Amino acid sequence: MEFQTFCVHGGSHRYDVTGAVSVPIFQSATFAHPGVGESTGYDYSRQQNPTREHLEALLAGLENGVDALAFSSGMAAISLAMELFEPGDHIIASDDIYGGTHRLFFHLSAKNGITFSLVNTSDPAQVEAAATPRTKAVFVETPTNPMMQVTDIAAVARAAHARGLLLLVDNTFLTPCFQTPLDLGADIVIHSGTKYLGGHNDTLSGFLVVREPALAERLRFLHKTVGACLSPFESWLLIRSIKTLAVRMERQQESALRIARWLRTRPGVDAVYYPGLPDHPQYEISRRQTRGFGAMLSFDTDRAETAERILRSVKVIQYAESLGGAESLITYPMLQTHADIPEAEREAKGITNRLLRLSVGLEAVEDLMADLGRAIAAGSDGGAET
Ligand SMILES: *Cc1c(COP(=O)(O)O)cnc(C)c1O
Repeated sequence: MEFQTFCVHGGSHRYDVTGAVSVPIFQSATFAHPGVGESTGYDYSRQQNPTREHLEALLAGLENGVDALAFSSGMAAISLAMELFEPGDHIIASDDIYGGTHRLFFHLSAKNGITFSLVNTSDPAQVEAAATPRTKAVFVETPTNPMMQVTDIAAVARAAHARGLLLLVDNTFLTPCFQTPLDLGADIVIHSGTKYLGGHNDTLSGFLVVREPALAERLRFLHKTVGACLSPFESWLLIRSIKTLAVRMERQQESALRIARWLRTRPGVDAVYYPGLPDHPQYEISRRQTRGFGAMLSFDTDRAETAERILRSVKVIQYAESLGGAESLITYPMLQTHADIPEAEREAKGITNRLLRLSVGLEAVEDLMADLGRAIAAGSDGGAET
C-alpha cells in the first residue's frame, strides 16, 4: 500500500462494529470484564485504549516497526526511553540536539548516573572514537535542530551494532513521510508528535517506534508503569492529522525549498541552512537516505539587530517556538529552544544572536516571502507597512 493510502486507512480496526468511517473516541478509563478471569482485550486505559491502539498501529505501520507507543509529549517519550538505561551507562549523542533533550540528559538522566558524550554524529568516526566499554546507545537527531546537520543513519547503525549498542533516532523533522530510520538500521525511532504528525500547533504528543519484539515488550512494560500515555481524544486528533501528513509535508517542503533559495539572495542574510540546497555539506547523504528534505530551515542574518527586527516585523509568520504546523513560525533559538545550553557550547555550534529558525507552514509561499522580505528590509523602527 502506498504511504498516502496508509496515512488515510492504516491502523487497527479490531473494534470496528458499526462501520464508522472515523475512528471512535473511546473515552473510558476502564473496561468491564465479561467473566471471571476474562478480558475483552481492554482492561484499563493506561495499558490499552482502542483509540490510542489504532494510532499506535498506524505509526508502527508508517515507520515499518513492530510496535509504536503513544505518549503525552515528545519529552515523555524520550524520558521513557532513558528508563532502558542504568546507573553507570554511557550514551553518545548528537551535539546539536533539541534543547529539551539536552536538559533531560544533563539534569535528570545525569542525576540517575547516566553519562553522555556529545559528538558531531554527521562524522561516524567521532561516534566510534567516543565509545567506551560502558557505552550502551547512540542517540541521533537528523536533521539537527537548529543547524540542520545530517547524519548518515546506516553508517552510524553499522558502527553502533558492531559494538552491541542501541541506535535511537529522533525523526521529528522529517517524519516517516521522508525518512524511515528503522529501515536504515535504527532500533528506536522517536517523535515529538506535537510537530508534523499533529501538524496544527494544537496538540502535544510523542512516540517511540521499535523494530524488535523483545524491545517492544520491554518498552510496553515501562509505558504502562510510568503512565505518560496519550489520552483517547488527543489520539483521535493525531489519527485525524496523519490522514493529511503526506499532503502537508510535500507542500511545506516545496515552499521551504523556494524560500531557502530566495533567502540566500537577500541582502541582510549571510547564510541559509537547509539540507535541500546542493551545497549543504550532507546534501548527498540526504538524497540517499531520505525521500525529502523537510520544511525546516535556519539562516544567519548580518547583525543581531536584523534578526531582532525580523522577529518584531513579521505579520503572517508568527514569532513562537515549535514547528511543523500549518502556521509558519519563526524562532530565536538562542533565546528560546536553546536558552538552557551554556553560551560557549551554543556559540561553538553556530547558535548565535544572528541565527533564526523558520518552520515553513501551509500559507501561500508568496505571502510568506512578502512577509519575510518586508521584515528584512524594514526600517529600524520595525514599522514594516504593507
Ligand atoms: C519538540 C521536539 C521534542 C520534544 O517534544 P515535545 O512534544 O515538545 O515534548 C523532541 N525532539 C525534537 C526534535 C523536537 O523538535
